[in-house]
Amino acid sequence: MEEIKEERKKAIIVGAGVAGIATAIRLQKKGYQVQVFEKNSYLGGKLTSIKKGDFTFDAGPSLLTMPYLIDDLLRLADIPPQSVFKYHPLEIACKYYFADGKTLVAYADAQKRNEEFQTKLNIKPSKLDKYLQKTRYMWNITAPIFLYKSLHQIKSYLSLSTLWRALNLPFIGINSSMAKMNHKWLSNPYAEQYFNRFATYNGSNPYQAPATLNVISYLEHFEGAFYPEDSMISINQSLVGAAEKLGVVFHLNQNVQEIQVVNKRAQGIIANEKFHSADIVISNADVYSTYKYLIPSKPIPKNIAQQERSSSAIIFYWGINKTFDELDVHNILFSKDYKIEFEEIWKHKTIPKDPTVYINISSKYNPNDAPKGKENWFVMINVPGNLEIDWDSVKGNIKSRIIDKINTLLKTNIEEYIVEEDTLSPLDIQNKTASHLGALYGSASNQKLAAFFRQANKMSIASNLYAVGGSVHPGGGIPLCLLSAKITAEMIPNP
Ligand code: FAD
Repeated sequence: MEEIKEERKKAIIVGAGVAGIATAIRLQKKGYQVQVFEKNSYLGGKLTSIKKGDFTFDAGPSLLTMPYLIDDLLRLADIPPQSVFKYHPLEIACKYYFADGKTLVAYADAQKRNEEFQTKLNIKPSKLDKYLQKTRYMWNITAPIFLYKSLHQIKSYLSLSTLWRALNLPFIGINSSMAKMNHKWLSNPYAEQYFNRFATYNGSNPYQAPATLNVISYLEHFEGAFYPEDSMISINQSLVGAAEKLGVVFHLNQNVQEIQVVNKRAQGIIANEKFHSADIVISNADVYSTYKYLIPSKPIPKNIAQQERSSSAIIFYWGINKTFDELDVHNILFSKDYKIEFEEIWKHKTIPKDPTVYINISSKYNPNDAPKGKENWFVMINVPGNLEIDWDSVKGNIKSRIIDKINTLLKTNIEEYIVEEDTLSPLDIQNKTASHLGALYGSASNQKLAAFFRQANKMSIASNLYAVGGSVHPGGGIPLCLLSAKITAEMIPNP
């Protein structure tokens, strides 16, 4: 007798960013037939790579934390994690160069770190340890509330007044800024600049963002920073492999034009003029763009329309015809006055005159990314997500400032060694990924209640419409995007 196959319920995901791919894995595993519609000709959104001559560059994210979240997804597809995605802890998380010539190596090893802070910055191990333990307390209190659950679910087991009382505990720091609290706790300009930098890990401003965000540094100091053997693109490749193994279908070059909502139910999507029905729709596109372009019949909610966006970036991808042993995988060349730099970005919405320069060189650990004797430099500065700036014309000016800074540090003429170049501006980021204003991390976390104004994982305009990704709870960066996928997939009922 012929077996009658029951048709599986259909889930459609708009966008194949890392959160979209992770959600696809989880929902396919849950029993849905998942299809992902991606407007680009490649998968991964911001998490992608580019090739220039003989050089390969991770185009977006370069720093890996919480890699076990990727392992979890591979296990769902019965793929032994280290078989397709190999990663290792970095012994040096980052090398820091301060404007006055002082240097600091951020060692992963606690003993080495203590010695380095003591000898270079004159910070006693006991003081550093006390500071780091505070970030650990904050992590233990805030992560279960803000990272691992939907805030809507939180409300169901914790009253808002209890939550408010918890948030007001002095060491949580919601009523002070990161920079203020770091000054109070450390009273050392170098250590303050070092710890204030963690605000940029989610595109925020340490002089505005609540001190609670000091929690970000917990990950690097207690869990560590990692590098994937085959560069960041291997996150994307291994997750796509897992999704396809489970049966997820990816459609490339499919621009989703509309999410059709009728009587508070998402009926499906229209992509490249064709309708595709679905039982569940999940948008991995930036939430502002989702409302504005995909559900134009509904007004953009005030909290989304008015939400401050995270900072953006200008990136130069340089193929360098030489190797520089003094640089590591991650390097920071700090500005002289961090406060002024953030004022220029956030208050005046201009390009900083003396930008902090981040140089990432993945060929230091993955020799396939550059020919022998050469290096692939990813050189980035933070800038405002400002679309009124003529980025093409300012790039040259910024480039010469960056080059001056690098030349002073390395006592070289780096321009002589640049043999390949590509660039990325906020406008490019918006055009490529539909990220409103080219934000790297969705919305900024500068306001003390920013987490509550971020888009919830369940969209209220339809009973079967959800959202995942960096502009959605719990926020931007690869680990949080993966947690966003987990929270969303767990909220979606079994098929
Ligand atoms: P995105 O990557 O934004 O992808 C969304 C996808 O949806 C895109 O592919 C887009 O084309 C697609 N889409 C949008 N609209 C439509 C439509 N209408 N139809 C079809 N498809 C559509 N994070 C870290 O953890 N570490 C880092 O070091 C780090 N550095 C970064 C550096 C840069 C330069 C950038 C840009 C980001 C960085 N991030 C970093 C942040 C991280 O990359 C993002 O938070 C994360 O990749 C966002 O993933 P996402 O799933 O939200 O979607």
